[in-house]
Amino acid sequence: MTTLNDGWFTEVFQNEGTAFSLKVRSKLHEEQSEFQKLEIYDTETFGNLMVLDGCVMLTTRDNFLYHEMMTHPALFTHKDPRKVVIIGGGDCGTLKEVLKHPGVEEAWQVEIDERVTRLSEKYFPELCESNGDPRANFFFGDGVQWMRDIEPNSVDLIIIDSTDPVGPAEGLFALDFYRDCMLALKEGGIVVQQSESPLLHAETIIRDIHQDMKKAGLAHVVTLPFPQPVYPTGWWSCTMGSKSNPLHYFREEDAAERPFVTRYYNEAIHRGALAQPQFMKDALED
Ligand code: SAM
Repeated sequence: MTTLNDGWFTEVFQNEGTAFSLKVRSKLHEEQSEFQKLEIYDTETFGNLMVLDGCVMLTTRDNFLYHEMMTHPALFTHKDPRKVVIIGGGDCGTLKEVLKHPGVEEAWQVEIDERVTRLSEKYFPELCESNGDPRANFFFGDGVQWMRDIEPNSVDLIIIDSTDPVGPAEGLFALDFYRDCMLALKEGGIVVQQSESPLLHAETIIRDIHQDMKKAGLAHVVTLPFPQPVYPTGWWSCTMGSKSNPLHYFREEDAAERPFVTRYYNEAIHRGALAQPQFMKDALED
């Protein structure tokens, strides 16, 4: 639920008894697409704000935390990622980070709602600056169906950058979907999924992701926490699953010598994110 009172945008997390607010100058856009309500605000201190069905998606100021951690740990864990598929990610920030890796030869963004991308092009152009890269491909449709139809053993890395596990995104947190991801992955392939708040969801959503990824055959699964101020509790996570690679080893030298700019990710942050808080170890161990 969201409210806009005396210049403040507020997202209320009823079940948690918490809320998050940003002081806004104005609402820049609102529309109802085939899939969701889309809103864009101009905020006083966080730049532009995108809201989907009342949930904060991203802001100009702090989306780098999420987009860097949803991409670089998995890309530097994979031995040689060449073909990458992003499910969701309509704001194009994840695609931009993926294409910073010169070894990536082909990247697909499979977003169900084209309107998200069109609004991002207008209100978050800095996230769309790689959209013209010849390696970038766009498919507007359901990622669940796309993963059923894709050629087996054809993808190195699958990034599930979706909304919360409700509505059209619910199927992206299901065992059948992970099984389809497994079939799509080449040997040495990795899946990484936005996995919500460690504080709120370690014993529920995150544990379910671990269990279902392992049931689907992803032998190694690890959750990496990271800060994300605009999301519930300000603490978020991504969960990586791999067919065969232990996920505590990554191309540390390549990460340290990466030929591109990041603002949060580096090899020490990557190594640190693999160190699990005790309550997560307790909640997630088999
Ligand atoms: N950073 C955001 C977060 O963590 O909540 C997610 C960013 S991106 C805007 C999420 C995208 O997932 C949305 O644009 C939404 O339309 C898309 N999405 C939801 N369900 C989908 C599905 N089944 N297939 C493809 N895209 C989907």
